[in-house]
Amino acid sequence: MKREEKRALTIGHLYPDLLNLYGDRGNIACLMKRCLWRGIEAKTVEFESEDSVDFSRLDIVLLGGGSDREQMLVCEKLKRIRENFQKYVESGGVVLAVCGGYQLLGKYYNTREGVIEGLNLVDLYTEQGEGRLIDNIVLQSPLCKMPVVGFENHGGRTHIQGNKPFGKVLYGSGNDGKSGYEGVIYKNVIGTYLHGPLLPKNPQICDYLLKKALERKYGDGTLAPLDDKQEREANAYMVKRLLK
Ligand code: GLN
Repeated sequence: MKREEKRALTIGHLYPDLLNLYGDRGNIACLMKRCLWRGIEAKTVEFESEDSVDFSRLDIVLLGGGSDREQMLVCEKLKRIRENFQKYVESGGVVLAVCGGYQLLGKYYNTREGVIEGLNLVDLYTEQGEGRLIDNIVLQSPLCKMPVVGFENHGGRTHIQGNKPFGKVLYGSGNDGKSGYEGVIYKNVIGTYLHGPLLPKNPQICDYLLKKALERKYGDGTLAPLDDKQEREANAYMVKRLLK
C-alpha cells in the first residue's frame, strides 16, 4: 500500500548573495526535486548576509563556495549566527558546506591577505598553499556505493585533524593534495571541496542528506526509490574517463 506522504522539509540557503560559485545553487534544486518527485513537500528559504537566521525552522542548511574576498566579507556576518548554528549542528541538523563554505566550518582559513575566521563548528583549519588545486575529482565515500564525482578548484589546503573524511581520493587532489582524503563528515554535516554541483551528479549523497533530515524531524527517513538511470550513466562515464 502506498504510504500517505505528510512529511515536509525546509532548506536554508545561507548567503547566496556572496557564496555561490560554480552552480552550487544546483544542490538546492536537486534536494527540492528529489523531495517533490516523492511527494515530500519542500521549500527553500534564502538568507542574505544581513538577514537573521532562525535555525529551528530549518532541516537542511547549504553553505556554498566563494572567493577569498567574499569569504572575508561573510566571516564577519557568521559571527552573529555562530551560536545558533552550533546548536543546530550539535542537535543533528543537516548541513552541506561546499568549498569556501567548507573552509568556513573550521577554525580559520589563513590566506596571504589575512586570516579569515571560521565558524569553528568542526575541528579543522585551512592554510593557503602554493598554486590552486583544479581538476575533476573522484572519491569513494563511506556514505554511498557509487563513487562520488565532482570538480575542485581551491587554493586552501584543509586539515581535518582526527575527523572522518567525506571520501578517499581515487582521482584528484582532495583536502590538501597529500593526505589522499577529501572533505569531512561530522555528525550530520558534510564539508567538501566538490562543486559540480555535487548533488545532481551524486544522487545517493542527496538522498543521504534527505534521509538524515527526515529521520531527525520525523523519526522516519524512508525514501521511495527513484529512477536514477541517467544520473548513474553520467556518473559511470566520468569514473571511467578519469580512472581509465
Ligand atoms: N577561496 C577558497 C579557496 O580558493 C574557496 C574557493 C571556492 O569556494 N571554490 O581555497
